[in-house]
Amino acid sequence: MTQALVQDVVAEVMRRLGNKTPGSPASNSGGVRAGEDAAANDAKIASRGPTVSVPIGQHGIFGSVDQCVAAATEAQKKLSRLSLADRDGIVKLIKSIAKQNAQLWGKIELDETKIGRLDHKIEKLQILELVPGVEFLKTTADSGSNGVCLEEYAPFGVIGIITPVTHSVPTLSANAVSMIAGGNAIVANPHPSGTNCAAIAVAEYNKQINAKYGVDHLITCIVPPTLETADQIFNHRGIQLLVVTGGPAVARAALKASKRAIVAGPGNPPVVVDETACLQNAARSIVAGASFDNNLLCIGEKQVFCVESVFDKLMTEMEKAGGFILNARQIEALTGRAFVIDPKDNKPHVNKDFVGKDASVLAAAAGTSVPPTTQLLVGETNKDHPFVQEEQMMPFVPFVRVKNVDEAIDLAIQSEHGYRHTALIHSRNLDTITRFGRRAATTLFVVNGGSPSGLGLGGQGFLSYSIATPTGEGITTPLTFTRYRRIMMTGSLRMI
Ligand code: NAD
Repeated sequence: MTQALVQDVVAEVMRRLGNKTPGSPASNSGGVRAGEDAAANDAKIASRGPTVSVPIGQHGIFGSVDQCVAAATEAQKKLSRLSLADRDGIVKLIKSIAKQNAQLWGKIELDETKIGRLDHKIEKLQILELVPGVEFLKTTADSGSNGVCLEEYAPFGVIGIITPVTHSVPTLSANAVSMIAGGNAIVANPHPSGTNCAAIAVAEYNKQINAKYGVDHLITCIVPPTLETADQIFNHRGIQLLVVTGGPAVARAALKASKRAIVAGPGNPPVVVDETACLQNAARSIVAGASFDNNLLCIGEKQVFCVESVFDKLMTEMEKAGGFILNARQIEALTGRAFVIDPKDNKPHVNKDFVGKDASVLAAAAGTSVPPTTQLLVGETNKDHPFVQEEQMMPFVPFVRVKNVDEAIDLAIQSEHGYRHTALIHSRNLDTITRFGRRAATTLFVVNGGSPSGLGLGGQGFLSYSIATPTGEGITTPLTFTRYRRIMMTGSLRMI
């Protein structure tokens, strides 16, 4: 952060504090900053990084991890005293707030992060109702000659979450639904570039939950989030569980943490297309999946391996489905802009300036232009191309021509890099589908559909924005965030 920017932020905070009246948003609240000089504290917070457009110290927004943990701990105790029906009500309230605010929050998130597409940012919030809630907590009972045994799913307590910039408000909101359904409270460290939108959502959720159920700070958010605050969350004694959604660096850091971590890590989903596939369906599915939010989804189709006997026909179908085909020269020009060579390892790395940008921006970088309605660019590359090997999160999908389906499966598995995240296939051959599915060993395996169908959009099943891959919990649900507990009452209580 430059000195000028720090001064701007501090000036803005001081301006707001200057306008404050007793009881106004910027005034001390809830005792969380008792004993502190609020003005000095806010200035100190602002000097650490970008601040947010909601008041710090209210409705879950705090300037230190300790404050977040203290407030969330208190909130979790209150939640545990509410009935399950109330917990269900809170979860439904979060879903309805997200839906009501989808247009506004989608725009705020896009304006702040500058990645993805407005229509899909809105949709990702509207579909939160597909995230399961309290109904997943089913008590099981076993009664017999020796008594009654009840098995229940109890809260962990306070969960520390790290969320990605690709879906800042959706991940935070879906985590909140599942974790509160499981009886927990939350301390969130959002991505620094998606903090304001996350803080706006957190403040609104808490405000309305407090008004209706008398519990504030169920979801807390540290402002500003930094690597240092993430580390404090990893090591805080008041946090019982970590849930980390992000790329390789944060996944590795969480796997080394001293407490249990559920890790929703990176992916690089390959698609296999064989000679038995319905090519029209394959093309439509790839366009819909890979263009969703400009290919920001970790489950989105990132590279295609197609057998040579149907390769050209598939490209024709891609064009009919709305894909725009780049030639070799254009792909080379785009690659030169979309990747940068890091002198440290002399390898191409994704240029963040192009992540989640519109197809028209990529087309311009490729030296061409596309109709404004174009959602996805495609083109033929070799198997070692950076667009194949890197998780690029852009609306350009490379297509690799292969001799046969065995080669397609081998190359697809290699390009997934063992993340065990998502793989897709278009085929009508059950043996091929089974062989690929078993070998890929991915958490999500989508057959003859687009990637969003793997998360309940146009497919069966429920939704979550945290798919725990290296740690194996899979598509997270309220049960993921609970502790199994058994109550055994000895003696014959059986009624039959
Ligand atoms: P990112 O890894 O840059 O950041 C994710 C979060 O981790 C951010 O909050 C960031 O501030 C934090 N972070 C990064 N490095 C850290 C470190 N060393 N210690 C502590 N915190 C750290 O990822 P992103 O660009 O925000 O999101 C895209 C990535 O997330 C992609 O790799 C995508 O596949 C993955 N993702 C996975 C899932 C899933 O469910 N498996 C869902 C969404 C995104």
